[in-house]
Amino acid sequence: MIDNIKVNVKNILEGIPENIMLVAAVKTQSAEKIISAIDAGIKILGENYIQEAEEMFKVVGKRVKWHFIGHLQKNKIKKAVNIFDMIETVDSIELAKNLDNKCADINRIMPILIEVNSAKELNKSGVFPEKIIDLIREISVFKHIKIAGLMTMGPVTENTEEIRPYFKLVKNLFDEILALKIDNIEMRYLSMGMSDSYQIAIQEGANIVRIGTKIFGARLYK
Ligand SMILES: *Cc1c(COP(=O)(O)O)cnc(C)c1O
Repeated sequence: MIDNIKVNVKNILEGIPENIMLVAAVKTQSAEKIISAIDAGIKILGENYIQEAEEMFKVVGKRVKWHFIGHLQKNKIKKAVNIFDMIETVDSIELAKNLDNKCADINRIMPILIEVNSAKELNKSGVFPEKIIDLIREISVFKHIKIAGLMTMGPVTENTEEIRPYFKLVKNLFDEILALKIDNIEMRYLSMGMSDSYQIAIQEGANIVRIGTKIFGARLYK
């Protein structure tokens, strides 16, 4: 099991260009497994759950960077800003404002990505593509969070090629926003692609990929 994780991480790292940041999506995984992934070269952990992250942070600490990739509830923001180096899933002005307040309290500036609901799925988080520029302009005035790029999940499909148009759409948005040169925002990171779709995402311009299953095997939910 542990040996597999090391081989998986090495294979993924060897197969992607050096400028691509690999985030290990660690939800539900044990400390032992996560540490073996770190030993094999993982430098960023992606967590969906604050409580899990707190427990893992006690074990792993600052050896790696921490990205939040889940749905952030208001009552967990204070904890989140103490652990994470980037919040990848900001999709509303309310969340941005609350994050800004909590970051101001501890006097830090948090890099954030705006999550795009690229397939406009009603049951999913993320902002619709046509709303994103207005949202970014509104968020750009906050002093303690800084927009650093975009993130998207893409729709769940059997045929991963069907995700490509959604990745293309988000890359186009990324370029469009970059060209606007809005004050206090950067379009540096484009986080798209998971185990089944990261190669397609990289072809379409992603520079952060978030991979769980292909590193750790299938998740066992308790
Ligand atoms: C779980 C998760 C991933 C990784 O998914 P895999 O298919 O296991 O690679 C990526 N991004 C987010 C936001 C996730 O929740």
